[in-house]
Amino acid sequence: MGWHPELAASIRPFSALQPPNVHGQIAMLAIPADVLLQVYEATLGQTPFLIEHLSFNDWASLVAVMQNKPEELDNKIREFASNIAEVCRKSAIENRALNLITAKAEKIILELHGYDASHLDSARQVSIAEGSETFSDTYINRMSLSHVELDYLKKKEAERRSNAHIEITPLTRDAGHKFAKNNPFLPLASSTWTEKAMQRVHNRLWKLDTFNYAAPISVEAYMALAGLTEADIDNCRTTARNATIYFAATRGGLDADFPPIANLEKGKCPRKPLLHQKGIPKFPTDLSELKKLWNAGRPYLKCICPGCEKNFTWFDHMIRYVIGNLDKVDPRAPSHKIRMLEFQALLRTKWRKPIMAQISFIFMRECMIKIVHLITQNKTISAEEILNFEDFINVPFYISSLPRSFQMLKVS
Ligand SMILES: [Zn+2]
Ligand SMILES: [Zn+2]
Repeated sequence: MGWHPELAASIRPFSALQPPNVHGQIAMLAIPADVLLQVYEATLGQTPFLIEHLSFNDWASLVAVMQNKPEELDNKIREFASNIAEVCRKSAIENRALNLITAKAEKIILELHGYDASHLDSARQVSIAEGSETFSDTYINRMSLSHVELDYLKKKEAERRSNAHIEITPLTRDAGHKFAKNNPFLPLASSTWTEKAMQRVHNRLWKLDTFNYAAPISVEAYMALAGLTEADIDNCRTTARNATIYFAATRGGLDADFPPIANLEKGKCPRKPLLHQKGIPKFPTDLSELKKLWNAGRPYLKCICPGCEKNFTWFDHMIRYVIGNLDKVDPRAPSHKIRMLEFQALLRTKWRKPIMAQISFIFMRECMIKIVHLITQNKTISAEEILNFEDFINVPFYISSLPRSFQMLKVS
């Protein structure tokens, strides 16, 4: 994939660099040329280059800084530049180790609930070992390569390592078996990993091996796109803490001119969907409920036609897809730059409440994943002990959902 034609003028000084993914470039459309140049210059002559490695979330957070705290822009870019090498290093480790980390955590969770986890003993334990170099140093040293040749080889080698995991994971499976027995279900992958993985499925996140991946859009990125304030975010935190569901499935659902699901994928329902939120589950009574638990409070779109089977998508999956396919929202707009502005306007008006619900869901899930980490670190921890951790004091929701399912720990 090349550079977006509408970026041609602003990226001229660095057009030889590898362009970011579609989403990164769409976010770049919302950033003036002089700021892009500043980002480029921040890692001039030193790899990894910011232009090649900033994520969609990073670009979106620049948009937020420009709009809300322009005086902090220089610092923000400098911070990106000093962190980028570490970000890339961690991402390479995650690419190698994610399968194993997920399998280990799932084994613990499944066994706690009394389910068979033997498929995880040998499965998916790939390349945890430090990825070995393709060529030995001694061999390369004898090749008398020039500085330029050597740099190029190193760069390619780093790319190979960072893509290693993504290439071996069977990402797409039959949609009908998303909650099948042996599919992974714990959403432990970082947004960096998800952003890379979803390139393989043309930004259709629902095609990955589990429905539980959240779109790689951070709270900061939602803030930037929807023009939310810190006070709005505090409200979302309170909503998450109180487990408030604004769009319960038992009620009518919100009609805010969401695109038909057929616009996201051919053959799906062509009618306009409504927005609902998943409820807060009680103790999961079977394996499939345990696998779906991680979507408590999550906003989704569903059409109203009775018996319609191809009618469901998570709200955040839709948002992520639409950002990469802005013509689906506003086909008549004269340019992508305008489409991006119109899309942001939509998030600031009609879709503002769903975005707030999405952010509340992110906070709910963050708490759940923290609990998973506590449990996987210490299998004999009790529900009370979990709730004694500072983060979880006064959070009744987590008593009624997740920790309750771990009450059995006290018995064993
Ligand atoms: Zn990188
Ligand atoms: Zn339908």
